[in-house]
Amino acid sequence: MSETIEKVKCLIIGSGPAGYTAAIYAARANMNPVLYQGTQPGGQLTTTNEVENFPGYPTGVTGPEMMMELQKQAERFEADIRHGWITKVDFSGDIHKVWVNDEKEIHCETVIISTGASAKYLGLDSEQKYLKLGGGVSACAVCDGFFYRNQEVVIVGAGDSACEEAHYLSKLCKKVTMLVRKDEFRASKIMADRVKKTPNIEILFNTETDEVLGDGQVVNAVRVFNNKTKEKHEILATGFFVAIGHKPNTDIFKDFLELDETGYIINKPGTAKTNIPGVFVSGDAADHVYRQAITAAGTGCMAALDAERYLASKDANFEVSTSTYN
Ligand code: NDP
Repeated sequence: MSETIEKVKCLIIGSGPAGYTAAIYAARANMNPVLYQGTQPGGQLTTTNEVENFPGYPTGVTGPEMMMELQKQAERFEADIRHGWITKVDFSGDIHKVWVNDEKEIHCETVIISTGASAKYLGLDSEQKYLKLGGGVSACAVCDGFFYRNQEVVIVGAGDSACEEAHYLSKLCKKVTMLVRKDEFRASKIMADRVKKTPNIEILFNTETDEVLGDGQVVNAVRVFNNKTKEKHEILATGFFVAIGHKPNTDIFKDFLELDETGYIINKPGTAKTNIPGVFVSGDAADHVYRQAITAAGTGCMAALDAERYLASKDANFEVSTSTYN
């Protein structure tokens, strides 16, 4: 075996609430966890503004602040938090192999996958063109809304994310036009009602995007069509926001793990176990139903406890720590 191969007891992939919670539990259970943060340290919550529904923050907290606190908490117990992107895995043997940035090879007794999910786009050529140019297409109102102060923007989507982002944008922008492809919202009633009551948000039901228009560098309008009447019209806008859901970041695992039709990892009910012994999953990579920071944190805890029990079952000298169960 090459000397460059590192051996770890517990490798955690991903740095959202699931990954950091798994790291806190694994570190307190003497599993010496190593956590790779991925390309978006802190995960999706770093693109969220105010988090009001995570227990323990009575006056709310910003997403980035909460993630920094979770990281600090994991480091307090000496979890090894590293920059790096896991590019390949091999779960075919007893020892699970992962590669960091296509170079460094690590052999792991247990792996906890907390890779989360990424924003979806419509896939129109014009949308992708202005997205790549950084010229007015975004999937994160909280990250980019500031650039559109006092301007007019369009947002696509009808779920809770779209409502939350439309409301956020309405505080910065002169006008927000919301495109809803059905004749109703998918969002919870409270979120939809808030959008409906906001004076500078105009909601266009049964309306889809035909083309994102611009001068070749930046967006200046969006051509939309009514999917009942087929009528088209243009809306002047300098920003085009997409809030139509997420795709789980699970592509590198598909040759080894059971995934559902959308790519979410299938866990054994009531546990964080996957179909491969020693490989566990937590957070949005396995959750298309709840997708909340608090549920991700909860399953991060479950994954660490399951990994600890797995290690104890393999190695009589590895004691399950009682403290983690208190
Ligand atoms: P959802 O999957 O709930 O909603 C996606 C929305 O995008 C749907 O309204 C869907 O339309 C629309 N859509 C999908 N594809 C297209 C397309 N090609 N063109 C136009 N519209 C499209 O995703 P969210 O990200 O909104 O929410 C994910 C989860 O996170 C949910 O469980 C949600 O409750 C939760 N969440 C909770 C929040 C909170 O409580 N603070 C905040 C944000 C999210 P259609 O309805 O027609 O299918």
